[in-house]
Amino acid sequence: QSSPDVRVRFAPSPTGMLHLGGLRTALYNFLFTKAHNGSFILRIEDTDRTRLVPGSEESLEEMLKWAGLEPDEGPTKSGKYGPYRQSERVHIYKEKAHELIERGAAYHCFCTPHRLELLRKEAARRKEVPRYDNRCRQLSQEECRRRLEDGIPHVIRFKLEDKAQPFTDLVFGVTRHDVASIEGDPVILKGDGFPTYHLANVVDDHLMQISHVLRGQEWLISTGKHLMLYRAFGWTPPQFAHLPLLVNKDGTKLSKRQGDIFANHFREKGYLPQAVLNFITFCGAGFQDNKQVRTLEDMVAEFSLARVVEHPARLDWDRLQEF
Ligand code: GLU
Repeated sequence: QSSPDVRVRFAPSPTGMLHLGGLRTALYNFLFTKAHNGSFILRIEDTDRTRLVPGSEESLEEMLKWAGLEPDEGPTKSGKYGPYRQSERVHIYKEKAHELIERGAAYHCFCTPHRLELLRKEAARRKEVPRYDNRCRQLSQEECRRRLEDGIPHVIRFKLEDKAQPFTDLVFGVTRHDVASIEGDPVILKGDGFPTYHLANVVDDHLMQISHVLRGQEWLISTGKHLMLYRAFGWTPPQFAHLPLLVNKDGTKLSKRQGDIFANHFREKGYLPQAVLNFITFCGAGFQDNKQVRTLEDMVAEFSLARVVEHPARLDWDRLQEF
């Protein structure tokens, strides 16, 4: 079937080399969208400047190219589509954060690092999880204006809804995380004018008209917060499908200490990209059977999101040599 409105994105943060889990997320996005004649977008989420690892963005792009997972749109460089980069779109997030203030859904927060530290210590003393107490929600407009005029350092925080609403994840089913009972209002625009992940991610998914967000399971608990942002803006959210973790055969987590979990390791060892793609799809999720070795085109034809199941996908390292 053809639905040209399917638009997906792979949105890595350039905080290290592409590992098998990331490659699998990129692959599933690619397969899903190609099966619907949709578009695959690459977006580099590089607004947390403290976590950037030099060279990792180039390496991510190179490995995706090696695997044949290239974007269908984006800024062009030597005739090829490249990624959108969030660090080049900071003005947009700033504008959107202010739009939320105007809508009454966000506010300036002038709490000092010292005050936040005291809150943290107090929580630790009570053996509780530290959370912001939403104090600056209470500031009057005049007081807020006065502090802004005085140039007092500030951030912008988003007002969490008191009660989270359930949503249906395409893999995990009906899900609900009561964020406001666990955390205080999150920062969406930092003191340096850069957005946090949540704001930038939601704004871009909306502006880039993403229809389906396929991403790692670790983001499932953030989705409730993202949906609150969509509601605050008055936007229709995309559909969400969280991909279960990729683990070792014995159920243990893939760890960065296993040097062989990075995609470039396989290239250096001389594996063909097709072998690696088969290896990471062979753990079950997304395909009807695991008997044959597939080309990328076969994978597009046979992949089904409905066959991605909730439980972790186990990598069978012993079978790597078979591909
Ligand atoms: N930038 C996030 C990451 O590095 C992506 C989360 C998402 O796809 O929404 O995993």
